[in-house]
Amino acid sequence: MDWHALSTNQIIKSLNTNEKSGLSSSHAKTVLSINGENKLIQANHKSLFVRFLSQFTDFMVIILLIASGISFTAALWEESGDFIDPIIILLIVIVNAIIGVVQESRAQHAIDALKKLFAPSACVIRDSKLQDIPTENIVPGDIICLSAGDYVPADARLIECNALKTQESALTGESLPCKKNSEIVLPSKCPLAERKNMLFSSTIVLSGNAKAVVTQTGMETQVGKIANLLNSEEAPQTPLQKRLAKVGKVLGIGAVLICCVIFLMGLLRNVPLLDSFMLSVSLAVAAIPEGLPAIVTVVLSIGVQRMAKSNAIVRLLPAVETLGAATVICSDKTGTLTQNIMTVTHLCSPEGDIEHHSDSAQNLLSLASLCSNSTVTKSKLKHKAIGEPTENAIVLSAQSSGIDVNKQKKEYMRVAEIPFDSQRKLMTTVNKFPSGLKQITKGAPDVIISRCDKFLLGGNTVAITSSNRMALLEQNNCMAKEGLRVIAVAFKDITRADMATENNLVFCGLIGMSDPPRPEAEGAVKICKQAGIIPVMITGDHIITANTIAKKLGILNNNSLSLTGHDLDEMSEQELSKKVKDCRVFARVTPEHKVRIVKAFQKNGDVVAMTGDGVNDAPALKVADIGCAMGKSGTDVAKGAADMILTDDNFATIVKAVEQGRGIYDNIKKAVHFLLSSNIGEILVVFIASLMSLDSPLLPIHLLWVNLVTDSLPAIALGFEKIDNEIMKRKPLSANVGFFSNGLGFDICVEGCLIGAVTLLAFIIGTNMFISENSIMLGRTMAFATLSISELIHAQNMRSRHSIFSIGLFSNKRMVFACIICSLMQVLVIAFEPLARIFKVTTLDFSQWLCVIGLSLVPLIVLETEKYIRHRKTI
Ligand code: ATP
Repeated sequence: MDWHALSTNQIIKSLNTNEKSGLSSSHAKTVLSINGENKLIQANHKSLFVRFLSQFTDFMVIILLIASGISFTAALWEESGDFIDPIIILLIVIVNAIIGVVQESRAQHAIDALKKLFAPSACVIRDSKLQDIPTENIVPGDIICLSAGDYVPADARLIECNALKTQESALTGESLPCKKNSEIVLPSKCPLAERKNMLFSSTIVLSGNAKAVVTQTGMETQVGKIANLLNSEEAPQTPLQKRLAKVGKVLGIGAVLICCVIFLMGLLRNVPLLDSFMLSVSLAVAAIPEGLPAIVTVVLSIGVQRMAKSNAIVRLLPAVETLGAATVICSDKTGTLTQNIMTVTHLCSPEGDIEHHSDSAQNLLSLASLCSNSTVTKSKLKHKAIGEPTENAIVLSAQSSGIDVNKQKKEYMRVAEIPFDSQRKLMTTVNKFPSGLKQITKGAPDVIISRCDKFLLGGNTVAITSSNRMALLEQNNCMAKEGLRVIAVAFKDITRADMATENNLVFCGLIGMSDPPRPEAEGAVKICKQAGIIPVMITGDHIITANTIAKKLGILNNNSLSLTGHDLDEMSEQELSKKVKDCRVFARVTPEHKVRIVKAFQKNGDVVAMTGDGVNDAPALKVADIGCAMGKSGTDVAKGAADMILTDDNFATIVKAVEQGRGIYDNIKKAVHFLLSSNIGEILVVFIASLMSLDSPLLPIHLLWVNLVTDSLPAIALGFEKIDNEIMKRKPLSANVGFFSNGLGFDICVEGCLIGAVTLLAFIIGTNMFISENSIMLGRTMAFATLSISELIHAQNMRSRHSIFSIGLFSNKRMVFACIICSLMQVLVIAFEPLARIFKVTTLDFSQWLCVIGLSLVPLIVLETEKYIRHRKTI
């Protein structure tokens, strides 16, 4: 249907709705069940079976399958062939694939849960009430209300609009703002880009506000028609994953070389060709850290799920890593550092302070409330305001001074509005007074005062002199020094609504309101400083107000600077990047300045987190290393541009998120450290044994079992390790420092040598020191058990930089569970006769187990000693 060619009345009638009361919930429910949800059909999630199969596309798994195929063929060839090996390899590969699918599903589940948290909502009139409902539940006939920064939730026909501009580039390719008009009816052949009376799903409201009736939803919308193009679901790889994939490749090549050497040496020592081949293949599988990127994804996504519980929703996984490296947090003042609960505490006329109930106060508050969009409701004998906090404070103050705000609004009807925006820092309305039309403008005092040429003095309008102007500014400064947010009110009489210009105004007075700092902000600032992170306040408010609050919170001190947007305009990029080093407060800035501030910090090598809420903040959120949007007060556009959403709009949450980001990075490091040191240990045992011309201490299935089965559970459990208490006492991770810096590479090698040494020793002891029918088999059994158990014990070493006994052996439940399961499986494989036969191992007696456990404890003893010595040194 050509909705743009119909009048609003026709549409409202044909959709069975009502402009004022909207749809009834029950009717909407019926329409929803017929029409379906208002969402674009996503590319299907892969089914379980497909995900299981995709595990077999892994390079290493393919090699293993080929190896098992070869050994199977060889077994067929030789009549007395051994079919157990290929079958076991196949089983291990399947178990590994199952573990892979389970982990992947958990990661996917975490991401899906996050997506749900981020599900957008829209403001709709239903049952005569304005309510926020999930976008998915919108149906044709719903009456939607939109304002700057909202995403349009469905295709809709405008009923009324006010200075409405939208961004439709996603749909039409037109990058210029599109001015809308609710009053026209267009010819039916009108092209999409010119349908000025329509709103289209997924486009953005840039400015103004509107009321519209939904005409089409879901795949029926214009964007639905091109939705197939938008169905890409792939999550990007994080920098760490990319780096680890590279490390994996290098290690892989090294491992393959060693395997070739082992293969050749086996041949020289007349080991059967097939045995040599199988050992090399399993060693390659053991050594190549194939699973690293997967482990990173799992740990990241689990971490992200935890972060969501503490009010930080991470939209893109790489942001978690960047969070850990943040060196600067630029935060908005209002609502993020302060509570955004405003109360009018001071009123001023040009003659000085005025009493709340005085005539001049009533005049000032009456004008200011007419120029506000908040409305007053009464609940339990108390007046409540609905709207934006600054305006709420104004209307509540007006109401308590004796004005009936709602009645007054009806009496002096608004005929035009120029909405507030943080660029102009002004808002204007035109109201019908008995004497004629009156324009009322309220906004930042410095801006208003510069636009006034008269002021109210004893009820008369008098021309402003420059000394009057100075005196008014001084009044403003006095209020600002107390940390108050100040709004100036001015007016002028006009004859036509379209004559409203924000110039030649009559200054009426100042309204000062307090907005106390959030109680937790001061502590969070302190933590930031300890953690080597610079907290910076960015605000549209006056510099004196900003400085007062920044000092209270500890952001600003005597050695630091504060700058205004005006100062920034005078500075070159070079100068700015020099100045930002000492600047802690940026006041009276516009969203455009925010981009310059972020870039200036970045030029100095800083990793910047930046908060934002408005539609104009989107560029700064994109440029920042971590864009943080406000969950409560933020616009959809800001949320869409951000890497992280703060559901409680709180500065302290960013600091908490940094802490968690650091913790997650730490845990990933632990898991990688554990896996790599274990892998090195395995290679060394086989390599050194073959250099010493010994029989191989481990059989291929032993290596595969340890790597693909018993190593993976503790590695994941390390991802759940509690965050170190002292993590925010460390300096931020430098973006230039590699993953293996600070001795990590060395530690991995040393620990690998330790594991290798004890395993080899177990083999030598097993073959030489016990009397047995098959001493090689006994040696292998002891080596196999020692390898597996020493790695489980080594996983405990990885849990913390502090002694394992100080953090508590059982403090990570998943680790306890992983160890119990893996140890039981290991004992079962050795002690349960049928399994032991398959794994070519023999049962161990008490003294042999004792020996295995003793050797397995060596890495723990060595590392605990090292931790003790390090701890003593730092005291
Ligand atoms: P922050 O960036 O920390 O959230 P802010 O909320 O103070 O700062 P803006 O909302 O851009 O920044 O406000 C800038 C100035 O505009 C305020 O100091 C105030 O003087 C004025 N102002 C704020 N809200 C309104 C409003 N609704 N109507 C008129 N003027 C306003």
